[in-house]
Amino acid sequence: QAKAKGRGAYQLFEPEMEEEARSRHALEQDLRGALEAREFHLVFQPQMRLDSSELTGFEALLRWKHPSRGFISPAEFIPIAEENGLIVPIGEWVLRSACATAVSWPDVTVAVNLSPVQFRSRGLVAMVTSALAEAGLPPRRLELEVTETALLDDSEATIEILHQLRALGIRVSLDDFGVGYSSLSYLRKFPFDRIKIDRSFVGTLGESPESVAIVRTIASLGSVLGVETTAEGVETEEQLDFVRECGCTAVQGYYFGKPCLASEVSRTIETLTTIRRVA
Ligand code: C2E
Ligand code: MG
Ligand code: MG
Ligand code: MG
Repeated sequence: QAKAKGRGAYQLFEPEMEEEARSRHALEQDLRGALEAREFHLVFQPQMRLDSSELTGFEALLRWKHPSRGFISPAEFIPIAEENGLIVPIGEWVLRSACATAVSWPDVTVAVNLSPVQFRSRGLVAMVTSALAEAGLPPRRLELEVTETALLDDSEATIEILHQLRALGIRVSLDDFGVGYSSLSYLRKFPFDRIKIDRSFVGTLGESPESVAIVRTIASLGSVLGVETTAEGVETEEQLDFVRECGCTAVQGYYFGKPCLASEVSRTIETLTTIRRVA
């Protein structure tokens, strides 16, 4: 319905906006065929525990290689897929692929992002159960990442689903914490296993006392609640020292590793295990 309204409305704006709307529409069309055309793949980024410098798992991140436009960022196509509902089958593909890949790893977790739209689709718990069973992955090796927007609308129903997932033995983390609609009440409504501090704070630790105060506060909140706190987007040694000093218990970022292909995961594990021995 937004589209029908949009068509007339766009003519009131600049040509660039019309162009933007057209390109988004084209992208939406292409997205419809992308799953079947096998244009998606996953990459995996290491997640480390800070005290022991131990690798604890990998986050699965979706990549779309468009046949003519090349790689398109998930930040661009996920919102479109959420709007038209395609995120439901795409998200199912992500989860099944991630579980199937992770089963061949040593005893580390795989973290998968869930869209709020997937919570509103029926049968999420059954789908997750079946993905684990089909892959033969123990539930404790799966971590599901949800953002606060998932808890915004219909939060009672969402929290009930989160409880069901956690009852299966799956870990649940709160992603991108500190931006958007952050509300501390979510931490009271559901016992998350992990809070992931948005990388916008980590990236500004050097210049912004506010960011330092926020990261420190989230870390101590996590410590009081007995929840792990992961600093996202750690790129430099300086940032690593900063987030450690702030009290974060885990990190993820380019400093330890950029997202890599499934075929490169075992080499990444080896490298990170060597770093640990040397450190
Ligand atoms: P996210 O879940 O917060 O994932 C972390 C993002 O930060 C990833 O971007 C990752 O590549 C990037 N990143 C990690 N470390 C660093 C760093 O040190 N520096 C910088 N500059 N960036 C870093 P990516 O892969 O582009 O994904 C963006 C977002 O798209 C994700 O944010 C997530 O919200 C969404 N997304 C990705 N894959 C999926 C998926 O399978 N399903 C859903 N629903 N969303 C996904
Ligand atoms: Mg995430
Ligand atoms: Mg995040
Ligand atoms: Mg994000």
